[in-house]
Amino acid sequence: MTSESIDALVVGASVVGVTAALALQQRGFKVMLLDQYPVAQSCSFGNAGVIATGAFPLSAHYRLTDIPAIFLNRSSPAALDWASVARLLPWALQYATVTRRDTVWHNTAVIHGLCRSALQSYQLLLGAEMPPINRYGYLALHLDVSELDAAIRLNAIRNSLGSTAKTISGTDLVELEPAIAGLASGATFLEGAGHVTDPAAFVATLANVFAQRGGRLRCDRVERLETESDGQVFLRGARENYLSPLVVLATGARANRLLADCRHQIPLVSERGYHLELDVDRGFISRPTALPRFGVVLTPSPHGARIAGISHFGCPDFQEQPRLLLSALNRLRRLLPILRPRPGLEVCSGERPTTPDSLPVVEQVLGHRSVFVSSGDGHLGLTLAPVTAGVVADMVIGISSNYSRELGSCRFWRSEESWQRLRKTSMTGVGGPSCALEGLLKDLAVACSSPAPH
Ligand SMILES: Cc1cc2nc3c(=O)[nH]c(=O)nc-3n(C[C@H](O)[C@H](O)[C@H](O)COP(=O)(O)OP(=O)(O)OC[C@H]3O[C@@H](n4cnc5c(N)ncnc54)[C@H](O)[C@@H]3O)c2cc1C
Repeated sequence: MTSESIDALVVGASVVGVTAALALQQRGFKVMLLDQYPVAQSCSFGNAGVIATGAFPLSAHYRLTDIPAIFLNRSSPAALDWASVARLLPWALQYATVTRRDTVWHNTAVIHGLCRSALQSYQLLLGAEMPPINRYGYLALHLDVSELDAAIRLNAIRNSLGSTAKTISGTDLVELEPAIAGLASGATFLEGAGHVTDPAAFVATLANVFAQRGGRLRCDRVERLETESDGQVFLRGARENYLSPLVVLATGARANRLLADCRHQIPLVSERGYHLELDVDRGFISRPTALPRFGVVLTPSPHGARIAGISHFGCPDFQEQPRLLLSALNRLRRLLPILRPRPGLEVCSGERPTTPDSLPVVEQVLGHRSVFVSSGDGHLGLTLAPVTAGVVADMVIGISSNYSRELGSCRFWRSEESWQRLRKTSMTGVGGPSCALEGLLKDLAVACSSPAPH
């Protein structure tokens, strides 16, 4: 048993775990952060680096009736691990319940609200030790007039939810990204978005701040979790055992493995995304630039640029298929032949922890008052981590917020009850559509015809 005295132990030293550990430290806890790998080696390594100002849930992008065709189309940016199908069914059923129009609207509003707090939440966590975050915004290229029309409708929704989304074309676009502007009929420019060039280094810097503030980092794999009768939590590690008054599980797509020891589960799948370094010079692009038609983002990296994206659904640790990204790159190269893989570097992948409604799950585990879970950030972990860190740390000290009520997994188990609640909130305000927005809401399904880009 470790002899170190701690108040809280966070399992998972990736972006969600490291930020949760920092937030607990801020509230006076002596924290240990534990991971089976070195910091930020899982999904938080090599993502697109966008700190988004807002996003739409998957249920806005993938309508139920279109899903079979999407998965069967070999050039689609969304794919299914067919060996996982039987185990994905319960998740798929939950997904079906969140595709109702009002629910999509409600979740879109909640996600935009969470994203809006992201940059400020990083600032609050890190203060003067905040690593650099670029503020050049985020661009999405629309390759033909129908994509541009759909984007104009989406941008109206984004703006109604507090983002600043501009539709641009011509010289404005050339000025922003001269190397790739020629591809597009127009683009969406999201002014307030942030970007980190090296997400793994960014998370490693956060972990260093945690260590400098007195936090302890350990490399170990937790194999079992038990709650003792006095409320302490016992963790059996591969190397050592640990006893802590409080545990936060930030174990990404694998969250259900340890939750099973508490007889608890959350609806979570692995949505594998891929990334690859491109053989272009630094400065080729200045900001992350999505190509929604291909389901990818071109994003500045320390070497030059990286291509990242694809949604490949399965159960944790399922077989990766780098050809999914390579095939998107090949199709993109027909328009932009300069984009080649950087010699010697291969496609990497990470498993996004994805819930049916694209909102994270942050909660105290039922029947285990000392165990908390924070996972399910899907496409937005780098963006939402500092926000969910604040939610979980407040929950630990007994402070609940609107978000703590929104983010509990009970929202999936009381579907009829929560459906009524959602209906009520969406009729009366709190992120719901006003009459003026009803027209925009109608457009949502039409406009979200392209896949989620990163
Ligand atoms: C291609 C791609 C592009 C993306 N782009 C963006 C983007 O631009 N912006 C954005 O906001 N998000 C983006 N994301 C999403 C973001 O990367 C994820 O949401 C985020 O990394 C999830 O972080 P996490 O800490 O929950 O999980 P992970 O990063 O997977 O970390 C979980 C950690 O838990 C550890 N762990 C699990 N089980 C155990 C155990 N039993 N014992 C010890 N340790 C354990 C793992 O080793 C791992 O380190 C992207 C994702 C991908 C794949």
